[in-house]
Amino acid sequence: MSDSTLSIGVLLPEVLGTYGDTGNAVVLRERARRRGIDATIVTVSLADPIPSGLDIYTLGGGEDVAQSLAASKLRDDDGLVRAVEAEHPLLAICASLQVLGHSYRDARNVRVPGLGILDVTTEPQGRRSIGELITEPLIEGLTQRLTGFENHGGATILGPNARPLGAVISGSGNGVLPGDPAPATPVDGVVQGSIIATYMHGPVLARNPELADYLIAQAMGISPTDLKELNIPSIDALRRERLDAGLTSPTTPAKEDPHA
Ligand code: GLN
Repeated sequence: MSDSTLSIGVLLPEVLGTYGDTGNAVVLRERARRRGIDATIVTVSLADPIPSGLDIYTLGGGEDVAQSLAASKLRDDDGLVRAVEAEHPLLAICASLQVLGHSYRDARNVRVPGLGILDVTTEPQGRRSIGELITEPLIEGLTQRLTGFENHGGATILGPNARPLGAVISGSGNGVLPGDPAPATPVDGVVQGSIIATYMHGPVLARNPELADYLIAQAMGISPTDLKELNIPSIDALRRERLDAGLTSPTTPAKEDPHA
């Protein structure tokens, strides 16, 4: 953290705000403030240069056309790449996960080059995965099940430098390419360097406070266990409800992609 204020970036919300993922930054700010840590949200629009010195970066999901505008902006402005090289934490959701990879192909079969800072490639599944997504975290420092809502047509394949964020208990996660057999252990998300990416909307940090604190601690260069515990009963109730919904109700069958 550069000074005493935690700066939380929301990048390109006009194109990556479709699924309410800007709420992730609000959760980070609120969890910091409740511990007496000064925190502020910095909104970076398409027309703005991307600062490379923010403490945490958040990127949300978006529809295919909006997503390609975001991809073009992020390729033209190296601010985010410099921030990641300096190991500033970055949370990327769904469309952003795809954009940070080598390339993705949208539902119209147009191949769009990405930033290549995640060792992943995305192709259309030919259907849409929509519904509750629950995973068991696979990275050190996270112990609680992750819950979110997925809504995507892309399937993301991880290369050797990328690790998954969680093992899928319910839902699709990173998905499967048409014709490929379903993996024995389906996974969701990507972890590589200071980047955590997932297909979970929700916003994911509202449903998973442990993940929010993981990012705050990473930005402050401390262990999450050094952060004062916060007891927020409504968050516990929300987690119980959503985990229950994902485990008990049948997963919404993947739909034909209406964009295809
Ligand atoms: N347009 C992308 C897809 O359908 C991402 C969607 C999203 O961000 N929810 O795969």
